[in-house]
Amino acid sequence: MESLLCRSDKEIMEILNLEKPFQARIIRDNLIKGVTDFSNMTSLPKAMRERLSSERKNALTARIIRKEEADSTVKLALSYPDGSVIECVRLSDGKGRYTACLSSQVGCAMGCAFCKTGTMGLIRDLSAGEIVEEFILLSSLGERISHIVFMGMGEALHNFTAAMDAIMELHRESGFDISFRKMTISTCGLVPGIKKLTELDIPVRLAISLVSADDETRSSIMRVNKAYPLHELKDALLRFQHRQDRRLTLEYCLLGGINTDKKSAEKLYEFCKGLDALVNIIPWNPIPEMDFTTPSEAEIRSFERELKAQGINYTIRRSKGRSISGACGQLASETKKQ
Ligand code: SF4
Repeated sequence: MESLLCRSDKEIMEILNLEKPFQARIIRDNLIKGVTDFSNMTSLPKAMRERLSSERKNALTARIIRKEEADSTVKLALSYPDGSVIECVRLSDGKGRYTACLSSQVGCAMGCAFCKTGTMGLIRDLSAGEIVEEFILLSSLGERISHIVFMGMGEALHNFTAAMDAIMELHRESGFDISFRKMTISTCGLVPGIKKLTELDIPVRLAISLVSADDETRSSIMRVNKAYPLHELKDALLRFQHRQDRRLTLEYCLLGGINTDKKSAEKLYEFCKGLDALVNIIPWNPIPEMDFTTPSEAEIRSFERELKAQGINYTIRRSKGRSISGACGQLASETKKQ
């Protein structure tokens, strides 16, 4: 069963066996408004509603199979008809701003050692429509979502076309109308993807999961660094920033005893030179089966002192949703690789 999102009228007509393009447009308009049950699409003829309901039950392919809530964070597990399961999260800043954290793939090929999704391997890419369905289902929780981050399962730049098609659909004025400026793509440092994004020239935000500014340390934790070492990454970021003039976020997952010393802060300073970047320090969220340790409070404070001494622009993020595994690097699902 195929998703109806990110489709032309003609494609929707073919998938649903419709006769007229305006019927496809009615269905699309309903989906954008969050009406996903064909029987509630009252501007369609009754006989058509009944046929579609009996054939597909629901206009979305994704089903919510689990919902967990903690610290005003809501995590949904969604299943697709092929048995794939992904997770997505709705975050709240406590002041009425809601952000959808979307997955772009089932699993991830990048294999970053500190990340739970990385342990799954890549099972498959999500289609653009499936990504947009995540947004619709998170919106169905009842609050208007104004921001989007691609920080769920998968590396969005590794599923470039689908992720960009989803972004365009979520941005479309007659659709979900989310400003590009309120969207953030997170990447582990996939340089070819950053270059393609630069060429695309859309003012989305870019967040880079840096973790270490030392090639040896970074390569030992993040395989991507072996293919695209730090100097190549920095070059790509400088070009992106030259085109977009938008502040970058460098996500720095703080791993106890690994990237928290003075030398790490000095290397970080060197990497930041010439970039307009905010370093986001995220103490590692514990994942039981992994060997890393969450840094102690003393270790975090000592690293902060080093950052201050270097004059690095930083913030410390205490991940919300830790208790429901909805925090950074903690999303994974029970879908198994075939
Ligand atoms: S950190 Fe991101 S890119 Fe790395 S394995 Fe996890 S999901 Fe993939």
